[in-house]
Amino acid sequence: MREGGLEISATRIGIEAARVLRDHPGHAFCDECLAQRLAVSAREVRYAFIALAGSHEFDQETWFCSGCLAQKHVIHVAWLRFDVPHITEEATNDWRE
Ligand SMILES: [Zn+2]
Repeated sequence: MREGGLEISATRIGIEAARVLRDHPGHAFCDECLAQRLAVSAREVRYAFIALAGSHEFDQETWFCSGCLAQKHVIHVAWLRFDVPHITEEATNDWRE
């Protein structure tokens, strides 16, 4: 195996996978579904996942795949997280008093 070869293709696949993920915000895809869309092997996509998951833009987790609807290891654009102040029991009690 040529050294660095897999890494180079993983980068290219990573860029294309990132494009697909950005086109579908709110959707998660497993390696097999992304591989199908990109016409590459699931193994190559898995390798690309490692690079994508290292960025803040994408998250990896066990969740439902938007492609095959199975619950498995997926990657997606990081869900928007809002810093909502916690409405705690205490706050509710204070309000009642
Ligand atoms: Zn899938």
